[in-house]
Parts: sequence; C-alpha cells; structure tokens
Amino acid sequence: CKMDKDSLVGASCDVTFKEINEINSKIRPELLSLVHSDFFKYFKLDLYKQCTFWNDNNGYCVNRACAVDVVEEWDQLPEYWQPEVLGGLANESLSDDEALNDECSFLDQLCDNSQLRINKNGPDIDYCDTGDFHNKQSVLVDLTANPERFTGYGGEQSSQIWSSIYRENCFSQNETGQCLAKDAFYRLVSGLHASIGTHLSNDHLNTETGRWEPNLELFMARVGDFPDRVANIYFNYAVVAKALWKIQPYLAHLNFCNAYHEDVKSMITSVVSNLDSKIFNENLLFNDDISSNLKDDFRSRFKNVTKIMDCVHCDRCRMWGKVQTTGYATSLKILFEIDSEDEKAKQNVVDKLTKYELIALFNTFDRLSKSIESINNFEKLYTDRLLTA
Ligand code: FAD
Repeated sequence: CKMDKDSLVGASCDVTFKEINEINSKIRPELLSLVHSDFFKYFKLDLYKQCTFWNDNNGYCVNRACAVDVVEEWDQLPEYWQPEVLGGLANESLSDDEALNDECSFLDQLCDNSQLRINKNGPDIDYCDTGDFHNKQSVLVDLTANPERFTGYGGEQSSQIWSSIYRENCFSQNETGQCLAKDAFYRLVSGLHASIGTHLSNDHLNTETGRWEPNLELFMARVGDFPDRVANIYFNYAVVAKALWKIQPYLAHLNFCNAYHEDVKSMITSVVSNLDSKIFNENLLFNDDISSNLKDDFRSRFKNVTKIMDCVHCDRCRMWGKVQTTGYATSLKILFEIDSEDEKAKQNVVDKLTKYELIALFNTFDRLSKSIESINNFEKLYTDRLLTA
C-alpha cells in the first residue's frame, strides 16, 4: 500500500511491482493446480532431526495447529510414491550410498533412468542440507493437507530462530562485493519471514467465530506497515522465477514419465512461459571479479539457514520452513552454480536435481505467489475499511 508500484523491485531486477502482480495473476491458477498434482504435493522430510545449533528441548508447540499429518495410508497413494519405489523411506535394505544415489537423480524412482548418477567427488554446489531426502526416519507429507497458516507458534523460541537466521548474514570482512551479497542474503531471509507472516495473517483463526480468515490488523503489524518487507517478498519471487526460467529448457530433456506426466509438463510450461529473463539478473551478484570465497561463504551460510530449521519447535512451521529454505537453496544453486556458457554443464546440474529439490522449488514459488495474491487482497480490504470508516 505504501510503495510505488511502478518502481523496480530491486537494483538487480528489471521488473516493477506492478509487472510482477500482472505475471502472478496470469500464472496463479496453473501454479496452484501444479502444486496440487500428485507429483508436486508430497514432500519427504526428517521431522525428528536434532538441532545442532543449541541444546534446547523445551518449548515444543503442543497446539493442534502446529502438528503435521504424515501419510500413513500408503496404499491410497499413486504407485510411484509407494515405499518400495521411494527407496530410502521403507526399504531398509538400501545402504546409505545406494539411498543417496537413488535420491539424487531426478525422478529416477519414477522412470528407469539409471544413467543419471551424482558425482559425489565433485565440488559442493549445494546451498541446503540434503540429508533429509534419504534419512531412514524421514516421513512423507501431503503438503496440501497441512496448509501453511497461523499456528500460535511464537515467543522466545521463534524469536531466537529468526535472530540466529539473521545473524548468518555476517560475511567475512573486506571482500569485494560483500555489500551486494549481504543485501541479497538479507532480502531472501526477510522475504521468507514476511511471506510466513503474510500466510499466518491470511489464514488466521478467528477465535470468536471459529473460522479461518484473513486478519488485516495482524498483516499490517507484521508486514503491511513495512514496505521493505513487502518488497522483499517480491524480490524473492523474482529470484525463484528466474531460477525456473533458467532450467525450463533443460526440463524438457529430463525423463518425466510421459505416460503419467504429460499434464504436469504442460502445466510447468504454461507457468514458466510467462516468466522473463530480465526479472532478476544474478550476474550482478557474483560476477567474475568477485572472489569465489565470498560465494562459498554465502553458500555455507545459507546452508546453515536450512539446518536451523531443525531447531523450530512447531512441526508444521518446521515443515514449511524446510520446504521453503530448500526451495531457495535450489534457486541459488541454479542461479549461481550453472555456468551459462556451457550447455552440457547446465544440463548436468539440472539432471542432478533431486525430485525433492524440484518439489521444494515449485512449492516455494507457489508460497510467494500466494503471498503476493494475499498482499493484493489485503490492500483491497484496507481500502474498503478506509472508505467505510
Ligand atoms: P517475529 O516474526 O518472531 O519477528 C522477530 C523480529 O524480527 C520482529 O520483532 C521484527 O523486529 C523482525 N522482523 C519481523 N519480520 C521481519 C521481516 N520480514 N524482515 C525483517 N525483520 C523482521 N507461525 C505461524 O503461525 N505459522 C507458521 O507457519 C510459522 N512458520 C514459521 C517458520 C519458521 C521457520 C519460524 C522461525 C517461525 C514460524 N512461525 C510461524 C512463527 C512466526 O514467524 C513468528 O515468529 C511468530 O508469529 C511471532 O511473531 P512476532 O511478532 O513475535 O515476531
């Protein structure tokens, strides 16, 4: 409400807030169908991993809204989500190495695609902790059955998490380009924080009526009254959109199971064909004259953010925190670790995306898209209130 919609979303984005609103209105219905498809609605995660940053087992959120319903009725799922097909989940006979290989080629459980194998000796290009995808105690969750909304999680515990996430934004001194990297890191984290704030305000429990509904006051207090927070959601949208745009030509070559997934492929195409390369210019951030140390630092700090999710005491919040930090981590890997000159290398990075990274990527885009839709709805609510006041 308080920003100029014709201004650019950021120095590295040749797109205005208004243009992003227009793109988002166009792709919203198809994106929503995509994340509700059987392929994109399930996510695998380890809900019981020990927090490695501090020793604090107090303060678990016992509110019903904090809980996650895990999938238990396996026989009702499509064949490609059955435990034996998923490998790491219930197939105890797999060694860790086999499980890793099994998870690390795109859709290789879905299709017979054994030629794609991860090169474990290559450089680390991951921005997230991928351990969850092949941990034996990981559970499978239907994301659509566990909406991201108000859970009542808060107080000391969640503040501690947020401040430790923001504290990761302390790069080593005297690095060239540090400022741009710091700014991008801050915007990513703040945009995630603001997007969560938007969802919990948009899907909020009205304790008087018992209904889940938008809460304008809460939204204004958390997000709407801070134009920079709103702008950071748009910035994140631009970052993830560019990553999707960048991998689109290489998705076509992947062995999606055509028999089952023609519809999914066409939904992806219809979403991504509305995106444009100018939405975000990643080359401004880590260009050639910036030392690779800074990029390594950025990568390992972002990886810490993904690991901090294990310290979140509310299961539902942790689940969405993991989905979204994995989605951002995947975007960063695509944007900063794909050599744009080398076609083969590009295909190689995309081939090695796990299906969970891809699911996280599209669901993170959906979360941002939903946030932007909600921001526009809140703006209407705000204007209506002013007119009737
Ligand atoms: P907090 O949101 O905890 O913020 C702490 C401080 O950070 C604020 O005082 C402010 O100074 C600053 N700040 C706030 N927003 C921003 C921003 N966007 N950019 C920069 N600085 C900011 N709650 C739910 O109800 N549902 C959820 O699904 C959910 N998921 C969560 C996931 C994670 C990973 C975490 C850590 C928390 C989650 N929470 C969720 C809790 C929620 O984010 C808040 O922490 C909680 O509602 C308490 O809010 P608060 O107003 O005390 O301030």
